[in-house]
Amino acid sequence: MEKHQKFSIWYVLLGIWVVLIIQNMIFSSFQVKIIPYSEFLNALNDGRVTEVAITANHIQGRMKTSSGSVDQAQAFRTIRVDPEISEQLARHNVVFKGEIESTFLRDLLSWILPVFLFVGIWFFMIKRMQGQQPGFMSLGKNKAKIYMEDQVGVRFEDVAGVEESKQELVEIIEFLKEPGRFTSVGGKMPRGVLLVGPPGTGKTLLAKAVAGESGVPFFIMSGSEFVEMFVGLGAARVRDLFTQAKAKAPCIIFIDELDALGKARGMGTMGGHDEREQTLNQLLVEMDGFDPQVGVILIAATNRPEILDPALLRPGRFDRQVLVDRPDKKGREAILRVHLKKVKYDEGLDVEKLANMTPGMVGADLANIVNEAALLAVRRGKNQAGMPEFQEAVERVIAGLEKKNRVINPHEKKIVAYHELGHAIVAMSLPGTDPVQKITVIPRGIAALGYTMQVPTEDRFLMSKTELENKIATLLGGRAAEEVVIGDISTGAHNDLSRASDIARSMVREYGMSKVGQVYYAPNRRAQFLPMLPEGPGEYSQATAEAIDKEVNDIIGSQYRKALGILKQKRDVLEKSFALLLEKETIEGEELKDLMANVAGAPAAA
Ligand code: ADP
Ligand code: MG
Ligand code: ZN
Repeated sequence: MEKHQKFSIWYVLLGIWVVLIIQNMIFSSFQVKIIPYSEFLNALNDGRVTEVAITANHIQGRMKTSSGSVDQAQAFRTIRVDPEISEQLARHNVVFKGEIESTFLRDLLSWILPVFLFVGIWFFMIKRMQGQQPGFMSLGKNKAKIYMEDQVGVRFEDVAGVEESKQELVEIIEFLKEPGRFTSVGGKMPRGVLLVGPPGTGKTLLAKAVAGESGVPFFIMSGSEFVEMFVGLGAARVRDLFTQAKAKAPCIIFIDELDALGKARGMGTMGGHDEREQTLNQLLVEMDGFDPQVGVILIAATNRPEILDPALLRPGRFDRQVLVDRPDKKGREAILRVHLKKVKYDEGLDVEKLANMTPGMVGADLANIVNEAALLAVRRGKNQAGMPEFQEAVERVIAGLEKKNRVINPHEKKIVAYHELGHAIVAMSLPGTDPVQKITVIPRGIAALGYTMQVPTEDRFLMSKTELENKIATLLGGRAAEEVVIGDISTGAHNDLSRASDIARSMVREYGMSKVGQVYYAPNRRAQFLPMLPEGPGEYSQATAEAIDKEVNDIIGSQYRKALGILKQKRDVLEKSFALLLEKETIEGEELKDLMANVAGAPAAA
């Protein structure tokens, strides 16, 4: 194809050249006689020249022909010659003529060469681009790799320690296996599932396992791959990805590291992220545009859900979130066993002990430990890895993690355990609080070191003053427990304090639940759709502001004392559950409830 193009360029040039020559010939031979300059001078001297037109190089005109016939005028054309030389030449009766060097070819070359050079470079660059991605004209075509089932090859059994997350994904697998069964009943599938959790917990692995289990094509692409150098390319990629996926339905589109693409819009420098916003908008458009019945399921993963654009989390988009959390002790043991299958190890290896040694570690760390141990065994000339190798591997990985500040030391773990139990026990002792589902000392996300999961039983629109107060007491329970048991308080409560203060402030300013009266002391209204604007001063006097502050402080103070009282009274429950939590790392709400009933001898308050 390229050859053909080059040839046709030559044909065109040849054509132009021929036309020029012919034109020249016609003009010169039929109308204008080209004469030597000397002849022109002779004619001039003879007085035969009747008219001339002079240009820089040529003299053109009419002359009577030398034959003498009166009326016959001949158009002529001659090339001018330097007058000094022509004078001399004429004196010696030399026949002479001027000649203009033909610059045609030179001009042509000076034009053509650069053009060819550019064309050459262009072809070269395209060749290189073609090497990187298929088809250069499909610059916007994405790099999404298509993994068919046999290529994915990851099964649920390869992902361990995240049983709850797996449970939530089972339904999606069933849908993908038999989309017809669901759609015939009119059921709607979620369009998007967002896997959230700390790095290395197996989100990517889990998404692959869903594809592997359901045996559908799997399109995987990383959020950062969408954000391109050229504006509009990312959007084109998104469009193309969805087109490809729809053609292969039922299938899974997996967008890894969604945060690279889905950061909240309008944040940061104005206009600096046009490309990313365009791409994100396109993604939103595509998500709205596709019919879930066709069987395309979108799965995304992120370890920073808090920075995602709220529009992404709206119903109909990534409305289902699946938490992929750090594994607890049992989970770590299971993950270790998955990875141990891949190496040769001592049969008598105490996997449980290893799990005990690795609190806070995620799947990726554990995979790393097994790999390190195997390498160490090889280095030591053993044919299988034993406990010494694993122990050393654990130490190495911990040393690596310590640099990243991700290891909880035993003292911190103790504080975290008491803190979380404080929340849980206060919540269980007070009416109107959300039931405690789970307490864990496994660090979650970046901020929280442990957490107490409370799930509301019903949607609440109205809350009583007592309920709000109990909520505050629960939030303060963590810090109260630290004070009761350890006698000192830590920074771990700052998020609790901020939430408790928010509630207390609302009680005073908005709900009229304090001594400053039943007045709505409105903070200046925030721009509803531009939440990043700072809140202005309130519409009340300085004195009222002080009174409000005092009321807020009083509420927090009295609720803190309430929490302290509860925990002092239930000190033995606190200690018993502490031992249990340290051993298991995670305890269920029910377990704590039983413990409270047995130890305190009184039923947990409803
Ligand atoms: P994430 O996407 O959450 O950052 P990955 O899925 O990329 O984590 O995990 C990296 C590697 O760590 C996986 O390839 C796997 O070998 C190992 N891994 C992580 N979590 C698990 C798990 N729950 N079970 C088994 N292996 C895991
Ligand atoms: Mg990942
Ligand atoms: Zn807390």
